[in-house]
Amino acid sequence: MLFGAHVSAAGGISKAIDRIEEIGGNAVQVFTQSPRMWKPTQHAPEELERFRTRRRQARVRHVSCHALYLVNLANRDRAIRTKSFDALQATMETARAIEADAVVFHVGSHLGYGFDAAVKKVTPALRELLELTTDELWLCLENAAGAGGTIGRSVAELAALCDALDGHPRLGVCLDSCHWWASGVDVTDAATLEAALEDLDSRLGLERLRVLHVNDSKTPLGSNRDRHDVVAGGLLGDGLATFLGHPAFRDLPAVLETWPEDGLSSADIDLLRELHRRGRRRKRPS
Ligand SMILES: [Zn+2]
Ligand SMILES: [Zn+2]
Repeated sequence: MLFGAHVSAAGGISKAIDRIEEIGGNAVQVFTQSPRMWKPTQHAPEELERFRTRRRQARVRHVSCHALYLVNLANRDRAIRTKSFDALQATMETARAIEADAVVFHVGSHLGYGFDAAVKKVTPALRELLELTTDELWLCLENAAGAGGTIGRSVAELAALCDALDGHPRLGVCLDSCHWWASGVDVTDAATLEAALEDLDSRLGLERLRVLHVNDSKTPLGSNRDRHDVVAGGLLGDGLATFLGHPAFRDLPAVLETWPEDGLSSADIDLLRELHRRGRRRKRPS
């Protein structure tokens, strides 16, 4: 397992590598532009090159780019859909330029008009975006906590999207522990996690799993509310060890997105490693 975090790209995107190296991570996630503004950032070619060089020096083995929060490919409003597509396209282009492994994004919300119709709406855009993937760079759907009409709240919904895209070989999945919990899957319970991953394997294939977001939750199981808490500081608590120790996740990057108020430090990465070790020692259901 690789261990890392979402870090700031302030001062130039290559600074993200400096930041993750400083705290001892070997996986990193960045925004390629401000996540709350549509306007894309123009990265200087030297910055992109420095990112690639520094990544090799720092032995960072996984790089994810998280798309903007504003993206909603399912919005009824065509202007918003177009902006969302353009933003994802820009993210894919920067991701290619820094030789990232994944672009992670939330498909969006149908805001009440229904999942099946939403799948039809988002499919053409996703097809075009998948053309920008490479053997190294995958496009990853992140599972949703399930608030409102959010798309991807269950393995069944993620699988329906994948089927609509004819099972594109570089369509991946990013599983967020907080979202899975909020959507009703108790990832701290070994038997529940086992069954959920068997379901994922049969509908999607475990090979589509590319990234894990490791966040704790402030809201109860099945609440459908997405409120991250610091790792082991929320309702999942020590149960995150069960999640992190699952053998299906062995080769994946575990990326934390939430940290204590005094800032992200090497202690947060160490905690991930420790929970992983503890989880691997736990007995698994037979
Ligand atoms: Zn996440
Ligand atoms: Zn979240």
